[in-house]
Amino acid sequence: MEISTIAVIMAMAEEAEPFIREMGLEPVEPVFDSRLPMEVFEGKAGTADLVLIVGGKDPRHGVDSVATQPATLAAYLAIERFNPDLLINAGTAGGFRARGAEIGDVYMGADCIRFHDRRIPIPGMEAYGVGSYPVPEFRGLASALGLKRGIISTGNSLDMVPEDLERLTANGADVKEMEAAAIAWVADLYQVPLLALKSITDLVDTETPTQDEFLANLALASEALQEKLIAAIAYCAA
Ligand code: SAH
Repeated sequence: MEISTIAVIMAMAEEAEPFIREMGLEPVEPVFDSRLPMEVFEGKAGTADLVLIVGGKDPRHGVDSVATQPATLAAYLAIERFNPDLLINAGTAGGFRARGAEIGDVYMGADCIRFHDRRIPIPGMEAYGVGSYPVPEFRGLASALGLKRGIISTGNSLDMVPEDLERLTANGADVKEMEAAAIAWVADLYQVPLLALKSITDLVDTETPTQDEFLANLALASEALQEKLIAAIAYCAA
């Protein structure tokens, strides 16, 4: 694949900070309508142009714009404005100890990306709710970079109600987070290849409350993410 532009989408400032620092990315403004919270950074990856879109602060609530609506909008803006040859969604996520996950592991989304909280028990709508957007295989990437491969499942909550767990299990999920399927939907519509990289901040099948584990491991997981993200960009742009 000939790559001249790579667009990376990340939800949280703290997730993005190590990547911005290590790649020496520069903020650019204004790129999108100034009423939108998304922040844009630019740099180079070899000869390819590299653009990073971060969710930015929600103007009403003053916190990072996490979860699916901002992710959908960021993906749309990234594709319309920059016409990337490759879209990357990088972020943190919950993992499952029972499926071999450890804090700081970085997963590459494999097979397809699904939703676990869009339950629509109407014929045909059930599958639409789950989504199951296929992602490219990126043959050789995971083994070259020491990434785990796994199914990513997306929902709009950090915590997990029993129905979510049932759906996560049915989805074959290795990774639980809040953006990837929204971005995968847009990538599928526009037929732009999507690479999803998710660094594990918390294990959802343990006793520790997710939010405590998430906050304790966010910096560590963001560093691990940055390393693999930069290596993946170098691999794809080569
Ligand atoms: N209180 C946190 C909220 C972050 S929301 C804060 O503002 O600092 C969690 C973010 O991390 C989302 O972008 C989501 O994709 C990811 N994430 C990490 N662990 C997760 C989990 N167990 N379940 C769902 N999303 C998770």
